[in-house]
Amino acid sequence: MLPAPNYVSRAPWEYDIAPFKLVDNVYYVGNKSVSAHLFDTGEGLLLLDTTYSQTAYLLFESIRELGFDPREIRWIVHSHAHIDHFGATRYLVEKYGCKTYMPAADLEFLTTKAELNWCGDLDIPYEPPYDTYFDVDVAINPGDVLTFGNVKMTAYCAAGHTPGTMAYVFELPGGLKAAMHGGIGMNTLTSEYTKKHNLGNVWRKAFIDSLNRLYGLEVDVVLGNHPAQNDTFGKLERQTETENPFIDPSEWNRMIDFLRNKYHQRMLSDPL
Ligand SMILES: [Zn+2]
Repeated sequence: MLPAPNYVSRAPWEYDIAPFKLVDNVYYVGNKSVSAHLFDTGEGLLLLDTTYSQTAYLLFESIRELGFDPREIRWIVHSHAHIDHFGATRYLVEKYGCKTYMPAADLEFLTTKAELNWCGDLDIPYEPPYDTYFDVDVAINPGDVLTFGNVKMTAYCAAGHTPGTMAYVFELPGGLKAAMHGGIGMNTLTSEYTKKHNLGNVWRKAFIDSLNRLYGLEVDVVLGNHPAQNDTFGKLERQTETENPFIDPSEWNRMIDFLRNKYHQRMLSDPL
C-alpha cells in the first residue's frame, strides 16, 4: 500500500518503478503515483508530463535506464497545470532548455490563480518566479495539431478536472494512435472543493460535456494520466513477446463510459 500522495515530497523513493516500453516509440518514465510518457520522435525526445519536483531524480534515472539521454528532451507537453504533472518541468527547463507546452486555459494556475495548482493542497511550496514555476513557451488550445518529429499530436478539450485539461491523440510512426485523457480525477469536482474555490457548476458541467464529446475517438492505446487510472502496471505484468495489452481499440470508449457513470453517481451523492 502506497503512502498518501502528499507523502511524495517526503518519501519519493517509495514511488520508484522501473521504466518500460508500452508500444512503438512510447515509454513509461513516471512513478507509482503519477505518469510521465516519453516519445522517441527521431528528432529528439518528447516528454508528456514531468511528475513531482521531488521525483525528478526518478524521472531522470528512468530516462537514462531506457538508454536515452535527458539532454535529448526537446519538448515538454503538459496534460494540465497541477503540480504532480509539472513539478519537475523547472529542472528540465533550467538544465536543458526544453520547450514547454501547457493548455491555454490553465496558464493562470501558474501565475494569478496558483491556489488552484494543487501545491497548497499537497503542502508543496510554490511562489513564482521561484520554486517549480516555469515560463510556458506554447499555449495549447483544443483543435491544435502539433508535430514532434515522427509523432503528430492533436489536442482535444477534456476540461473539467481543470478548465484547460486536454486529451491528446498521438499518431505514432508505426500507425497506432495513442491517447491520454489528461485529467479524469473528480477530486476537483467535489462540493467541498467547488465551494472553497467558488466554481459554481462550471467545472462539473465541463467535465461531463467534454466526456460526451470525447466518446467515439479512435484510439488504439490508452495512456494513463496516473497509472492506477488505466491499470498501467497490470498491463505491464500481462505484456509478453506476443501479447501487448496496451493495444486495445475498445478501451477508450469503455473508459469514457465508465467515467460518465462514475460522474453521475458521484454528483448525485455530493450535490452542490
Ligand atoms: Zn490533476
